[in-house]
Amino acid sequence: MADPSNSPHVLIIGAGLAGLALAQALRARNYTFQVFDRDVSEVTRTQGWCITLHGDLLDSFARYFPSDMPDIDAVDHLYETGIVTSSAVYHASKNHLKELVRFGPRLGHRQIRANRGKLRNWLMTNVSIEWGKKFVRYEEDASGVTAFFEDGSQFHGDIIIGADGIHSRVRAQLLPEVHPSFLPMGAFCGELEAPKEQYERWMKLGTSWASAFSDDLRVTYLVSSIAEDREKAKLYWLFGWQDEDALKEDFWTSNASREEMHQFMLSKLSKLHPQIVEPFQATPVEGMVLPPLRLCDMLPPILPPGPISLIGDAVHSMTPFRGQGGNVAMADGISLARLLHEREADQSLSDVLRLYEEEMRPRATAAVLESRGGAYEANARNKTKPTAS
Ligand SMILES: Cc1cc2nc3c(=O)[nH]c(=O)nc-3n(C[C@H](O)[C@H](O)[C@H](O)COP(=O)(O)OP(=O)(O)OC[C@H]3O[C@@H](n4cnc5c(N)ncnc54)[C@H](O)[C@@H]3O)c2cc1C
Repeated sequence: MADPSNSPHVLIIGAGLAGLALAQALRARNYTFQVFDRDVSEVTRTQGWCITLHGDLLDSFARYFPSDMPDIDAVDHLYETGIVTSSAVYHASKNHLKELVRFGPRLGHRQIRANRGKLRNWLMTNVSIEWGKKFVRYEEDASGVTAFFEDGSQFHGDIIIGADGIHSRVRAQLLPEVHPSFLPMGAFCGELEAPKEQYERWMKLGTSWASAFSDDLRVTYLVSSIAEDREKAKLYWLFGWQDEDALKEDFWTSNASREEMHQFMLSKLSKLHPQIVEPFQATPVEGMVLPPLRLCDMLPPILPPGPISLIGDAVHSMTPFRGQGGNVAMADGISLARLLHEREADQSLSDVLRLYEEEMRPRATAAVLESRGGAYEANARNKTKPTAS
C-alpha cells in the first residue's frame, strides 16, 4: 500500500463528474491534488438536467468517498416532493403503446435519479477548485509534469489526469489523432414548463422519464424538477431519428434555427402514440435547445505510457441512450484513486496508470457499445412486431 506522505501530487484537469469523483476518492485517502476548471466559477454553466446513479456506483461512493459527504439521497431530483422515481421504455406506434420495461427503486432497482446541479455540489463537498484555469498544454521532465493554463499560470505535479470532457485538450496533446465519431442518428433536445394537470398526466408513464421506440424514432421525455407548490414542473426531452446524413460534419441540424428544428420534430410526431407525444407538442419554439445534440461516440484508445492519463468523456464518450456516460466517468476516477492507493513499493506511477487503463478499458468499451446499441434499438425493435396492448 502506498504511504500518503509519499503520495504523488495529482493535477486534475476538469471539475466535471469524473474529475470530482477522483478528487473525492483521493481526499478520502489524504492524497494531495489540485482541480482546475476553465469555468470562471461553479455557476458559469448550468450543469444539465438529471442523471441516473446506478447501484454499483452508489456502493463505490459509500466505500471510497470520505465519511464527511452529505446524504446522497438528497440529490434525488424529486427528493423534496417525496414522489418515488420510476421510468419506463415503451414500444409506440400511432395506435398502441406497449410497456417493454420499467425501472425504479420500488421494483428492486437501486438507483437515484440525481439533479445534476445538486450532484455537482455534492461532489464538490470540501474540495477546493481552481476556477478560471483553462488548460492549454503540458510538459514532462525528469521531476514530473507541468500543466500550463491560458492565463499564463503553470502548476507542477507528478501526474496529470485529463478529466476535461469530450473535447479534451489533454487528449488532443496526448493522442492528437483520436476523436469521437458521429453516429447515423440526428437528435434534438427541448425544454418546457408544464402545469400540474399536464405534468401529472405525463408522469403516469414514468415519474422520472418515459422513452419510446417507433419506426426510425427514439423519443424520451424526462422530469427535471417540480415546483415547491407543485403547480408546475420542468421537463426536458430527447428526440432522435435514424439518419445516415448525420455521419457528415455539416449535417443540416448544425446550422438549423429553432423554428426549423421545431417544425421537423412536429412533422415526425404523427408516427407516435398521442400519449407519448404530448410533451413534445407542448414545447414552444423557444424550448428547442441550441446547439443541437450531435450524437457521437469513442471507444477508449490505447494510452501511451507515462505520467499523463485520461478519465471520463475525455477517454470514452457514448450516446445518452443508456444513461451510462457519467456513471462510467465517475467509476474511472474512483478506480484510479484506489489503484494509486494500492500501489506497491516497486511500482512506478506509469505502472499504476497502466493498471487503471486495463481496468477502465473493458468497462468503458462495454458501455460505449451498449449505448451505441441503444441508439439503434428503434430499428432493431421494429423488426420484431410486438403484440398489441
Ligand atoms: C442529454 C444527455 C443526457 C445524459 N444523461 C446521462 C445519464 O442519465 N446518465 C449518465 O451516466 N450519463 C449521462 N450523460 C453523459 C454524461 O453527461 C457525461 O458522460 C459526463 O458528464 C462526463 O463527465 P466528465 O467529467 O468526463 O466530463 P464533463 O462533464 O464534460 O466535465 C468536463 C469538465 O472539464 C472542464 N474543462 C473542459 N475543458 C477544459 C480545459 N481546457 N481546461 C480546464 N477545464 C476544462 C469543463 O468545464 C467541465 O467542468 C448524458 C449526456 C447528455 C448529453
